[in-house]
Amino acid sequence: MFALLRPDSAAGESRRVRELVQKLGATAQSLQMGTRQVVAWTGGDANRIAEAIAELDSVEQVTGFDSSLPLVEGSLRGDRSAVRVGDVTIGGRELIVIAGPCAVEESARTEEIAHAVGAAGAKMLRGGAFKPRTLPYSFQGLGRRGLEILAETRAVCGLPIVTEALDVETVSEVAEFADMIQVGARNMQNFGLLKKLGQCGRPVLLKRGMAATVDEWLGAAEYLLAGGNPDVVLCERGIRTFTSHARNTLDLGVIDAVRERTHLPVIVDPSHAAGERNRVPALARAAIAAGADGLIVEVHSDPGRALSDGPQALRPQEFAKLMAELRQIAPIVGRTLTAARDGAPETQATGVAT
Ligand code: PEP
Ligand code: MN
Repeated sequence: MFALLRPDSAAGESRRVRELVQKLGATAQSLQMGTRQVVAWTGGDANRIAEAIAELDSVEQVTGFDSSLPLVEGSLRGDRSAVRVGDVTIGGRELIVIAGPCAVEESARTEEIAHAVGAAGAKMLRGGAFKPRTLPYSFQGLGRRGLEILAETRAVCGLPIVTEALDVETVSEVAEFADMIQVGARNMQNFGLLKKLGQCGRPVLLKRGMAATVDEWLGAAEYLLAGGNPDVVLCERGIRTFTSHARNTLDLGVIDAVRERTHLPVIVDPSHAAGERNRVPALARAAIAAGADGLIVEVHSDPGRALSDGPQALRPQEFAKLMAELRQIAPIVGRTLTAARDGAPETQATGVAT
């Protein structure tokens, strides 16, 4: 069950409510939902606890679980959540495009890519310092040095950064540098990692597992929210099917299905779905048309030499062209997309049907 505290409740009031619930024999935790304090509990005598709690001045409402995903499905809130990352808001009217290399490489390369994508209208920079690779012999990422390069790049380019935390051990180190922490597809059900990220103090980008159902994906998000982190953005990145023409199959229908079930923002990664750069723009355009709140796209200035996922990385000009196309689609779906600035890679804005 839940107790929603009044908006003007003193900070720490949820602790008092939680302690009372615990005294009555339940297991309880305090949560923050947007600006509201919430206490959730299981066990104990439901009626007795509800009666005792409802009498407290600070409690506005006591409700039962009407679903197994109460926080993700948002039974205590009617509105859509927007997640703030630095000065960027994901889930508002503005489409947010995150772009950058698969893996962080040397600093000059990272800066070159960051400048190009920022000028083309990207609002955040992506890049992995700790990489989940299929083989142990592949480039595993620069580790801490990669995080430092990202932070240095942010200082000159101004773009907030999202980067992956691979395991529980490195969460604090990643949180020290990152503005947002990515959970990769392979880790979507790493429950220890999700619990740790509930307390990491950074927004989380939660990728859908490559064979995860919507319930499993939302269950993973529920772990983050229940663990105390309200700032979660979902990311569809393609799932495994029997197809052989692409690395994964982008589940475009899931965007609407998930937006119907949750208040959390949903973005799309067309790069890992496509696996090949020529296939990326069509998926990106379709994702925006289908209602995504934004995209995360791999971009590299010399994909042939990229240390990870070169074949699916757009070149800066190709990314700028895609952004120009998305600017034509955005108003049709009631969205806006930042204009390109001076210094954006040369592009001829063509019609979307190119
Ligand atoms: C990535 O973003 O580079 C990545 C490894 O993504 P995913 O976890 O979706 O495969
Ligand atoms: Mn990648």
